[in-house]
Amino acid sequence: MGRLCHGDHTVRLILLSPPGAGKGTLATGLKARTGIGHVSSGDVLRAEIARDTELGRRVAAYTSCGDLVPDDILFELLTPLALAAAETNGGYVLDGFPRTMAQAIRGAELGVALDLVGDAAIYLSAPDDVLVRRLLGRAALEGRPDDTITVIAHRLRVFHDQTAPVVDYYRARGILLEVDADRTPAEVLADIVERLTARGIREPQLP
Ligand code: AMP
Repeated sequence: MGRLCHGDHTVRLILLSPPGAGKGTLATGLKARTGIGHVSSGDVLRAEIARDTELGRRVAAYTSCGDLVPDDILFELLTPLALAAAETNGGYVLDGFPRTMAQAIRGAELGVALDLVGDAAIYLSAPDDVLVRRLLGRAALEGRPDDTITVIAHRLRVFHDQTAPVVDYYRARGILLEVDADRTPAEVLADIVERLTARGIREPQLP
């Protein structure tokens, strides 16, 4: 499969998922298979922390305990990357954004202003016990500071309280694609590509 298109533009996807459902792996898979840009809010924030800037230290105070970073910081860091991805690839998969209704609404307003409205929102769903098991497995391999049992429990609570309404919002707008994430990454990716294709989001036809 080549580039994913929707109408005349490369597709813009939103990836919603609780921690541990595999959104990073899926976004990387989508990028490898379709060439679509990958913009991860978590990666952007971790990069700022790694630079050890004053802003990065403020970000770390939130991420280290599993709290959401304030919107102004998030938009400041994320918007230029989304614009660059749109310019380079035509479209992108936004991984980990929006996480709250306020972000969804501000993001939608920005999308209209910049002519970058999202085409589909993919929701990776899996039971909490599966997510916890996966995150603890990742902790053993990667040692991410927010993959401790206490912070994982808090991040799941934040997801259910703040991000679940965003899932409902996209469902009501008719652009939600809910996917069972309790399968192998290859199965999840194949399912998503098939369902995007069924919605008219497909590789461009050759002339
Ligand atoms: P992730 O890599 O997507 O699991 O994100 C790791 C952490 O970065 C989250 O637990 C939050 O602290 C922060 N974060 C990522 N995306 C957002 C967002 N859209 N809004 C606020 N904080 C975020």
